[in-house]
Amino acid sequence: MGRRFIVLLGPPGAGKGTQAARLAQAAGLAHLASGDLFREHLSRGTELGKVAQAYMTRGELVPDDVTTRMIAERLAQPDAATGAVFDGFPRTVAQAEGLDRLLAEHGERVQRAVVIDARREELVRRLTGRWLCRECQTPYHQTSRPPRVPGRCDGCGGELYQRPDDTVEVVERRLAVYEDQTQPLLAWYERAGVLARVDGERDVEAVQRALARAIAS
Ligand code: AMP
Repeated sequence: MGRRFIVLLGPPGAGKGTQAARLAQAAGLAHLASGDLFREHLSRGTELGKVAQAYMTRGELVPDDVTTRMIAERLAQPDAATGAVFDGFPRTVAQAEGLDRLLAEHGERVQRAVVIDARREELVRRLTGRWLCRECQTPYHQTSRPPRVPGRCDGCGGELYQRPDDTVEVVERRLAVYEDQTQPLLAWYERAGVLARVDGERDVEAVQRALARAIAS
C-alpha cells in the first residue's frame, strides 16, 4: 500500500496540534508539525532557526522556499515511511503546490485536507491562556485545562512554558495572516476534491471522532 498523507488546516488555536498527534499515533503515521520543526531548529541554534525566528516573533510566515525545503528533509526520515499527518503545513498555495510536487515525484498525493475551525474569540482565549510542555509539547490551558501540579506536565513531568508568540498582539497578527494567506488554500483543496471540515469547538474526543470519520469517507 502507498503512503498516506493527511493535511490538517485551520487557524492557530483550533486544535491542529492535539488532533494531529492523536491521529498520527492511531494511524501509525509521522506527525509533521512545521511550527515544532522551526522551534526545534531555533533551540538548536541552526541557521534555519535563525532565519525563522524573525518571522515567528512577529507572527509572520517564514518564506515558502525555506519552509518547503525543511518539510522535504523531514519527509525523507524513516518514520514517514508509512506517510504523515501535516500540521501547520502547507500554509500558502505556493507551499501546497510544493508539497504536491514533492509527493508527485513518488506518484503520491494528499489524500484528505481537513479544516478544523473555531470562532475568533475562542481561538484568542485558547492561545493567550495556553501552556505547553517543553519536553512532549502537550498543551494545557490556565483555566480550562490546568495541569495537576502548576508548571509541570501531567504526562512526563516536563516544564510548562508559554510561547512568546501567544501574546494578544502576536495572536492578532497570526489570525490576520491565516485569513490572508492560508484561507485561500481551502478553495484550492476543495477544487482538488479532498477538503473536509470539522467543528473545532467541540471537546477533544468529539473532534477526534469527527476527524476520523472525515478521513475514512
Ligand atoms: P505554529 O506552531 O504552527 O503556530 O507556527 C508558529 C510559527 O512558525 C508561525 O507563526 C510561522 O512564523 C512559522 N510557521 C509554521 N509553519 C509555517 C509554514 N507552513 N509556513 C511559514 N511559516 C510557518
